[in-house]
Amino acid sequence: MDVYGLIGNPVGHSLSPPMHEAAYDALDVDARYVALEPDADEGAAAVEAAATLGMSGLNVTVPFKRDVLAAVEPSDLAAAVGAVNTVDFAYDPPRGYNTDVSGVRRAFGHHGVEREGAAVVVGAGGAGRAAAFALAEDVDALHVANRTAARAEELAGEVREALGATRAGGADDAGDADADPAATPPTRVTAGGLDTLAGTVPSADLLVNATTVGMESDETPVPAEHLHGDMAVLDAVYAPLDTRLLREARAAGATAVDGAWMLLYQGVEAFERWTDRDAPVGAMNGALRDALDRSE
Ligand code: NAP
Repeated sequence: MDVYGLIGNPVGHSLSPPMHEAAYDALDVDARYVALEPDADEGAAAVEAAATLGMSGLNVTVPFKRDVLAAVEPSDLAAAVGAVNTVDFAYDPPRGYNTDVSGVRRAFGHHGVEREGAAVVVGAGGAGRAAAFALAEDVDALHVANRTAARAEELAGEVREALGATRAGGADDAGDADADPAATPPTRVTAGGLDTLAGTVPSADLLVNATTVGMESDETPVPAEHLHGDMAVLDAVYAPLDTRLLREARAAGATAVDGAWMLLYQGVEAFERWTDRDAPVGAMNGALRDALDRSE
């Protein structure tokens, strides 16, 4: 039997165990998925312990996504994002991936939303970094807005640098290494504080909330007056699922994408990397939505 798992602190309410176990049941995979809670400074040590114990793979969540970089060989994308959320022990040293990036891409894709035009990412923490890297290659303009403007500027600078490296021909699992740099117009990457939302959201095609606003209380980081019907809005927050931002996006006629889609598709990519099989997306989504219903 293969054993997979999640490290985080806390992990008590994690939705990953039911989601992955539903995939094992659906495809008759002989595996279990366990949630583990190392001390907050023990992320890298927990990865080493998991390898010693013979585990096959690990997901990684707050606060360990950055620390775990030191314990794995990160993919180019995970190194650029600066965070690992999936570890594959089939390799020595274990490989680290960032599947939150494809979580964002495939959440939009599931809703028929193209990654093009102008995008605004609100937030510059872990989810904001994944969202910015998920969209940067495909859109014409990317704006990062964050409460702490300096953090947004820093992230925008790293995205510009990564885009420059990709266009210069560096292999990157984020994109097409054979792309002709001359044929690809550069993405304009800008940043600022939350006061820059008024000047960027009204003309945005894509908006991602990657802040924690909306979790604890019925608040939104983006004033409703800036939302419009020609945009798609992804809220990374999944507890609650129906945030104020998404309600106001729907009222404005926008396509609203809840955070469970991002959570689902980061798990789908992890499953596919670990097992080399197509994930049973419907079964995983059903288990995730059931677990969310139970946790409400
Ligand atoms: P994080 O690294 O701690 O970042 C938190 C972000 O929220 C920062 O940009 C922070 O701004 C901002 N923020 C916090 N309080 C704020 C406030 N009162 N007003 C405005 N901005 C505020 O957290 P994270 O890991 O990125 O998670 C962010 C959200 O995404 C959480 O709700 C998490 O559950 C969700 N998430 C979802 C998925 C998924 O698969 N759906 C995956 C990862 C995360 P400062 O920099 O100014 O502090």
